[in-house]
Amino acid sequence: MAEFTQPATVLSVTDLTPHVRQLVLLPQTQKIPFQPGQWVSLKLPVGPKPPLNRAYSLAAPSTASGELTLVFDRVMRGLGSGYLYTLNPGDEVMLSGPYGNFTIPQQLDRDLLLVARYTGLVPIRCMLKHLYAQRQMATILLIAVAPAEEELFFHQELLTLAVTHPGFRYLPLVAAGGEQQGIDLTLSMLRPLIEGMPKVIPMLCGTKGFARPLRTYFVEAGYDRKEVKTETYD
Ligand SMILES: Cc1cc2nc3c(=O)[nH]c(=O)nc-3n(C[C@H](O)[C@H](O)[C@H](O)COP(=O)(O)OP(=O)(O)OC[C@H]3O[C@@H](n4cnc5c(N)ncnc54)[C@H](O)[C@@H]3O)c2cc1C
Repeated sequence: MAEFTQPATVLSVTDLTPHVRQLVLLPQTQKIPFQPGQWVSLKLPVGPKPPLNRAYSLAAPSTASGELTLVFDRVMRGLGSGYLYTLNPGDEVMLSGPYGNFTIPQQLDRDLLLVARYTGLVPIRCMLKHLYAQRQMATILLIAVAPAEEELFFHQELLTLAVTHPGFRYLPLVAAGGEQQGIDLTLSMLRPLIEGMPKVIPMLCGTKGFARPLRTYFVEAGYDRKEVKTETYD
């Protein structure tokens, strides 16, 4: 069956950092019910064979009015993200969804260990907002890696969450030296938490170059591949 595609109106455009932007969209035909961690597919009027399909995770849980919050970075020479940066309030974009199974596990019977590289934080932020709105008391550690200090988005919100929720720990890391440095820094934080310790529920999100070596680390530490939930962006 063909996927249902509808226009959505841009309600607001907000820069969260010098290279990360938030768009709030309102689907025009029908609401899109979704689970935190899921994504929508935008059909963008650019590229050699439009529409260009690009996936964007929902950054905030669903609301009664049905608006969708997307957060994305401007990828260098990126066709889709470059186009999204041209949108203004009142503009329209075509989309379908929701899709994906990078969602909160049914049973939170172990600590959650969330690792995000840059905009990989988007679905994880949605999950955190959902969990804390439900007064979920799971123990959660978030490691968020950004390419520069000013690119740590939702930083203040996450710091506040860590202060107000004793079960939530937030470890922001800056890896200005690129993907490999991000992996090395993350591993140095992970090792004492994983080796010889009770198992956690790992969830990883970011580029393949970042997420895959970390998943391999967990597998080598005794985790089944399926136990390491992974979402890759490229
Ligand atoms: C399930 C899913 C959810 C996603 N959610 C988000 C989200 O919430 N926010 C977000 O910003 N992005 C998200 N993405 C990535 C997004 O779909 C696009 O791939 C990204 O915006 C780049 O598209 P583009 O057309 O601008 O770049 P392209 O024109 O496709 O690529 C330009 C160059 O950048 C490289 N590249 C492609 N994607 C990335 C990337 N993500 N990071 C670094 N380099 C890249 C390519 O290899 C190419 O060399 C998600 C992807 C998936 C699969």
